[in-house]
Amino acid sequence: MLADLLIVGAGTAGITAAICAAERGKKVVVIEKADEAGGTLHYTAGHLSAAGTNLQIRKGIIDTPEEHYADIERISQHTMNPVIARKAVDLAPSTLNWLEDLGYPFHEKAPLIIYGHEPYSKPRTYLGLNDIRTQIDAPGKTLLHLLLPIFNKYISAGKIEVHYNTKMEGIEVEGEEVVGIKTIDDRGCTINTAKNYLLTTGGYASNPEFFKAVTDGATRLISTANLNSTGDGIIAARACGARFSGAQKHSSTLGGMELEPGSGRVNFWGAWARVSNGVDRKQREIYINESGQRFMNEYDIHADERERIVLQQPNRRFWLLFDHHALYDGTCVVPQWTPEQLIAESEKEKAVWRANTITELAQKIKLPITAVEQTVNIYNRYCTNKKDPDFNRSYLEHPLTQAPYYSILVYAYSLISFGGIEVNENLQVIKEDGTHFKNLYAAGEILGAAATSGHAFCGGMLLTPALSFGKYLGDHL
Ligand SMILES: Cc1cc2nc3c(=O)[nH]c(=O)nc-3n(C[C@H](O)[C@H](O)[C@H](O)COP(=O)(O)OP(=O)(O)OC[C@H]3O[C@@H](n4cnc5c(N)ncnc54)[C@H](O)[C@@H]3O)c2cc1C
Repeated sequence: MLADLLIVGAGTAGITAAICAAERGKKVVVIEKADEAGGTLHYTAGHLSAAGTNLQIRKGIIDTPEEHYADIERISQHTMNPVIARKAVDLAPSTLNWLEDLGYPFHEKAPLIIYGHEPYSKPRTYLGLNDIRTQIDAPGKTLLHLLLPIFNKYISAGKIEVHYNTKMEGIEVEGEEVVGIKTIDDRGCTINTAKNYLLTTGGYASNPEFFKAVTDGATRLISTANLNSTGDGIIAARACGARFSGAQKHSSTLGGMELEPGSGRVNFWGAWARVSNGVDRKQREIYINESGQRFMNEYDIHADERERIVLQQPNRRFWLLFDHHALYDGTCVVPQWTPEQLIAESEKEKAVWRANTITELAQKIKLPITAVEQTVNIYNRYCTNKKDPDFNRSYLEHPLTQAPYYSILVYAYSLISFGGIEVNENLQVIKEDGTHFKNLYAAGEILGAAATSGHAFCGGMLLTPALSFGKYLGDHL
């Protein structure tokens, strides 16, 4: 029997679509190149955002999708796709209510305002029971643990047919219709057919060549994305005429440490530096760029402004400088580490360095020595005078005076990718000529973060739209 729906990619959007379509009795086939389902649900921090949910109502929080949308316009400076972002915020509350009906265990603090990215004006970010950062290394797996058993239940019941270790290699098109998905597995090449096709293959933040080709080309990709996020769906859809946009709206998360220099990889759950705001932790460090100079207020400014300033720095990287006193005063700048672990890491001299003088430290990190010395001297004077005329930093309690001194090299790094395949309001894939494929749909990060978040980070606006659009298509196709 011809499948009703063929889904490529058993990740966040794919398994949600499969569950919803199977619930309606549709014949669903899922193709997945990995040997298991879940995709980025294995790695995500699990922050969801929605306005007007049952949980907000129970907690007396008055909020609406209109206000959520207005916040996205404000944070992204109107750079999102209005049709897609609007659809995402309109669907979001019913998605959260659906998750709750399935038994999603909200953390008692949810919904809350999160400061890791530019904050929303209302508490509308949701975390699961296992996602709160009391243990900084506890990954956001609440969603995975909720959805995967349901997906597996439908597979066992014969309602979903899934093919693991099966990679989509191309899309077969006749006119405005897709007639098959070409896959490769250990049995060879197959053309898989269905009435409707859904691409949920995720982003391209683990494909350095593709990233380079679609962004400015100058910056090396430093990433912590799922290694299977290689843009396969985008590449295949473009090859058959789909329109791609948004890559120039690339934004990055701050604080990535490349513990193996040259690897291009950051371990999000293992070690990153907390430099994204001055709310979650007071910044005791100063930040210097390749010229050995401070370039921003390290303490008072919000996440979005920080992200934009760092994107302007050469190679999108900077060095933290601090002294021994700052290392031990309060929480470690790398939240997963103790000060002793940081000192141990400095022995390797790969991403963290330690020296007895600022001059020696500047030599080790290979920055202009005189400039670094001058920067530190000037900053120490600002601490004495309790005034920073350069950047107006208000927190000046930590002059660099107590040896040894430390430096950490941090990058603006990628969890997600911003460019994506364009879709219309029904989530049908749009062609270069502006028409659309009748039976080819796309959902999730394949649409690009810029569609729902613009040239900025709007909290929860990847994961929630991936679930919402997956659910919407599973409910309708
Ligand atoms: C560390 C981290 C933290 C994050 N935290 C948040 C957060 O808190 N809030 C938020 O909103 N977003 C967050 N995100 C982003 C969000 O989790 C993802 O954008 C979202 O989960 C992507 O869902 P998806 O369904 O599009 O893709 P995925 O979940 O990545 O699924 C894609 C699937 O397609 C498969 N696939 C790829 N190519 C092929 C092919 N050729 N053939 C067959 N199968 C293929 C992959 O193996 C994968 O299983 C985070 C991302 C990361 C990496």
